[in-house]
Amino acid sequence: MPRGLERYESINKGEAIAKFQLAKRFDVERDNIDDIHKAHEEYKKEFTKFIEDEGENMEVMERLPPDYSFLDLKIELLNLMLYNCNFCERRCNVNRYEKFGFCRCGVNSYYSSEFLHFGEEPELIPSHTIFFNRCTFSCVFCQNYDIVRRDDVILDVKEMARLIDIRRRQGSKNVNFVGGNPDQHAHNILAILNEVESNIPVVWNSNMYHSIELHYIIEDIVDVWLADFKYGNDNCAEKYSNVKNYWKVITRNFLLAKKSGELLIRHLVMPEHLECCTERIVKWVSDNLGRDVRFNLMFQYYPTYKAFEYPEISRRLNDREIVKAMKIAITYLNNLV
Ligand code: SF4
Repeated sequence: MPRGLERYESINKGEAIAKFQLAKRFDVERDNIDDIHKAHEEYKKEFTKFIEDEGENMEVMERLPPDYSFLDLKIELLNLMLYNCNFCERRCNVNRYEKFGFCRCGVNSYYSSEFLHFGEEPELIPSHTIFFNRCTFSCVFCQNYDIVRRDDVILDVKEMARLIDIRRRQGSKNVNFVGGNPDQHAHNILAILNEVESNIPVVWNSNMYHSIELHYIIEDIVDVWLADFKYGNDNCAEKYSNVKNYWKVITRNFLLAKKSGELLIRHLVMPEHLECCTERIVKWVSDNLGRDVRFNLMFQYYPTYKAFEYPEISRRLNDREIVKAMKIAITYLNNLV
């Protein structure tokens, strides 16, 4: 097992407990709560200590969940936040019980497929991958543009939890929430996990553009951040994904993710974006997250969807770019996939 995913490995060996299973067993006194945001902040401190003290005590898994748990509190809080959605840094502030924001997600979630995925990083496979519809980005080169622009199967929380348990028995090493993107579905994902019985690591496969408010809620649940680092500056992010303040938001979330969980970073190298994106990202990662962070430098970019409207990215990478990207990564990082 590569460095950096030791806790993940311990969960799979049955020597540590996935965070959501700990949150599910952490008792909260609902009757005494008036301000749910404040209560979450206060219980969060105690829960952090609970993970440290009990995270490897497998007897905790034998405890029955309390009437109301820290995970219940998080779900209630997320459902409250939907009235004024700021799950991601687009901060649409719409009432998702009545209308859509940018991502076109209401209260219900839809997904396109769920299966045991053998095409992920070696330490993750087989990965029980759940592809949600919709996204908080709109990348012109989106390789999943078909699933992010429609709603396929409506999510049944209990049914999906049952499938996660079945896939675990079939050999999945993790449950991997992706899309599209998982962030806008956080309320339903936590509700699914509340019904899951297996001790299984949770992988959050995200564009990392979530708000700080959402981060503080989900960081106690995510075991591994499988995190996209797409751009090295705001101009490229705005041009190709229609997002603002990308660099500030993403670097903040990566620093927070490193504190709270284990990290596997993905960077898709794009043609003509070696200096402005790949090099800047790799250097920042090395300086701020350490040379040993697990890093997947990906070369499978191909132009699709609206990429042909942008001549500089309307081709695959050439050999010179692949070699250059590899040289940059090898210079600054020690733990490449
Ligand atoms: S998740 Fe983001 S894009 Fe979707 S409605 Fe909320 S703030 Fe807007």
